[in-house]
Amino acid sequence: MACASSRKVGEGTYANVYEARMLRTGLKVALKKIKVSKLRADGLDVSAVREVKFLRELEHPNIVRLHDVYAHKGNVHLVLEFLPTDLEAVIKNSALTFGPGDVKSWLMMALRGLHHCHRQLILHRDLKPNNLLLGRDGQLKLADFGLARDYGDPARALSSQVVTRWYRSPELLLGAQHYGPGVDIWAMGCIFAELLLRVPYLAGDTDIGQLHTIFRALGTPGAADWPGIELLPDYHALPQYPRTPMRTLFTAAGSETLDLLERMLVFYPPARISALAALGHRYFKMMPPPTPPAQLPGVA
Ligand code: ADP
Repeated sequence: MACASSRKVGEGTYANVYEARMLRTGLKVALKKIKVSKLRADGLDVSAVREVKFLRELEHPNIVRLHDVYAHKGNVHLVLEFLPTDLEAVIKNSALTFGPGDVKSWLMMALRGLHHCHRQLILHRDLKPNNLLLGRDGQLKLADFGLARDYGDPARALSSQVVTRWYRSPELLLGAQHYGPGVDIWAMGCIFAELLLRVPYLAGDTDIGQLHTIFRALGTPGAADWPGIELLPDYHALPQYPRTPMRTLFTAAGSETLDLLERMLVFYPPARISALAALGHRYFKMMPPPTPPAQLPGVA
């Protein structure tokens, strides 16, 4: 299905993204043209293969829709549903004010999309506000599955060099090669905190510094908090920091808000709350209710 592209709307690590129209239907779409790596003999980057593979398997209102894939002049093109903005832009837009019901609504949509990935044993592995796209109707959708992996086979080693630094979980920072949905939950916890604070919560300036930033905020975990931590490949003598009570930083948040946030940011990965359990947490049942998507700030 060919498209006429107009303006460039974004540039990612492995693709340029254009606003385009499908020639047959006139539907506005995002056309993701994959930059073909000169080094790869097959000419097709593994990121593109992954993105196509996973998006085809994932159909959900909170996951970006892949309309089509085609090759043109030797390049792979992904035709995606067009989404005009993203959560990073909304967080950074100081002209917008948002309240507790808005945060609840965005988190609920993000967790619904994530639960859909995890129930199909797919890890996103690059969650950050910039990859949570927002539709004109206010719907939030998980995008950018270029780093996604399936984790059905627990014996297979996975790369720990994934996830943008500020959203990277402690097990990844300690070099874990066997990890699971907890890496996405950690990232989602960081995003939840960022929605509450309107600035990134755990913003380390280097990869080593990231671990220290996490420990300064949440306290250095001991063997009791994280059984087996000393067995992780990059484990080293960790600087000891006390935990800062969340309440001191998140002054305006309710107790159920902080309870859910703390459960998403549990150190020991198997004890971290799942997307499904998070959706069932009392935070989502308490007042205020989640704002209906069409009434969210930043919706055109
Ligand atoms: P990469 O995987 O290479 O990082 P992304 O998927 O993050 O590429 O896309 C790069 C940019 O293109 C995004 O930051 C966003 O601005 C824009 N973009 C991506 N997908 C869409 C879409 N479906 N609709 C509108 N803009 C998009």
